[in-house]
Amino acid sequence: MEEATSIWMNGELVPWAEARVHVLSHALHYGTAVFEGTRVFETAEGPAVFRLDEHLQRLVRSCRMIGLTLPYTVGELRAATLRTAAANGLGSCYLRHLVYRGYGEMGVAARGCPTDVSIAGWSWGPLLGSSGVRLMTSSWRRNDHTVVPTAAKATGPYLNSVLAKHEALDAGYDEAVLLNAAGYVSECTGANIFLVRDGLLATPPSSAGALAGITQDTVERLAADLGLRAVRQELMRSDLYAADELFVCGTGAGIAHVSSIDGREFDGPGPVTAKLADAYEAAVHGRDERHRHWLTPVSA
Ligand code: PMP
Repeated sequence: MEEATSIWMNGELVPWAEARVHVLSHALHYGTAVFEGTRVFETAEGPAVFRLDEHLQRLVRSCRMIGLTLPYTVGELRAATLRTAAANGLGSCYLRHLVYRGYGEMGVAARGCPTDVSIAGWSWGPLLGSSGVRLMTSSWRRNDHTVVPTAAKATGPYLNSVLAKHEALDAGYDEAVLLNAAGYVSECTGANIFLVRDGLLATPPSSAGALAGITQDTVERLAADLGLRAVRQELMRSDLYAADELFVCGTGAGIAHVSSIDGREFDGPGPVTAKLADAYEAAVHGRDERHRHWLTPVSA
């Protein structure tokens, strides 16, 4: 696998080592940036980006929610994404879009700072282990929607995820699940969560402070293909303990079964999780005709 060589910055591909920002960039001081994580998968026809348009639409919405004016159209960003993936020749890889307040003036008010955009790609395997995720309930509560727009994939609010992730790792777990201010389950630090109980799938709604995950949406659609019902509903911590199966999902994580939560163990991936994980693999690699439209070839 070749290493990535260049990063797209404000319309140009620049060498990896020269993709720098000024230390007084507004986003570095105040968290004024939004981002996307998207994956390129190998298919029989070559590498293809999974659900690129949905990721770009979410980027546009994230910008609107935090008041950033995107200097590019979705069409331009789509072309730039494919150019970046192709230029790096990585095959399967992870892509990171970032829209950020750059260098202009200091102070909380960002009016004099430009809005800069970058797209980088690199090889990145699944972010959570295939042998099962050991989850802990974080002592940190999820950001509240009355404090920041929790549906925006904005960098500032990710401090909440970083704190919870470090707490989990330091305690010997793989990942944290966060409750919201009202005490209901929200999501993990970089993934959404689903439970399966009596054949029914349930996941918290966005109003619980969870990101509207594109993999979460994919899981719901694949569940429908399999004749399974999936609902978005408020979940209590104890609902997770009482579930037949638990899994987390996200672009980075894929679909990863939970092997324990707060020390309560599950046996292997349950049958529903296993079926969904197979269906997901078929979809992302272009082996499911019904979902071929989710894939945008890199070399179109
Ligand atoms: N929640 C959080 C906090 C995340 O960082 C991610 C990863 N983007 C997700 C959920 C899953 O979102 P997606 O499936 O769109 O990658």
